[in-house]
Amino acid sequence: MDSISVKTGHRQELADITGLLQEHVRSKGLTSGVLTVFCPHTTAGITINEGADPSVVRDILVNLEKLVPRQGDYRHREGNSDAHIKTSLIGPAVQIIVEESRLMLGTWQKVFLADFDGPRTRKVWLKFISS
Ligand code: ZN
Repeated sequence: MDSISVKTGHRQELADITGLLQEHVRSKGLTSGVLTVFCPHTTAGITINEGADPSVVRDILVNLEKLVPRQGDYRHREGNSDAHIKTSLIGPAVQIIVEESRLMLGTWQKVFLADFDGPRTRKVWLKFISS
């Protein structure tokens, strides 16, 4: 297993990690298979969505905040229940097909680490299954 570190700059942020992942695939000489991208945190996850228009990332964060406000009917004493719930909505991992050492993403797709309780340095675990 490999891992990368991602430093976020805000409490809630979708950090584009596509370039880091593509560089990982190329530098390790991974040619054909499936890359699992897993975030081992309870207040940050991984998602794939549009990276071309930054308004999409903004809209995702603003509307997740409306769905799960920071203040609410929460009992978790750490005070970050919204971050835990948003992370469960987003999910901890994605799988990406790799062909000819390229991540097979749609034209507008990017891979994001979604941090909901930053800023922090987050770990992302990577496992490649060759096929
Ligand atoms: Zn917590």
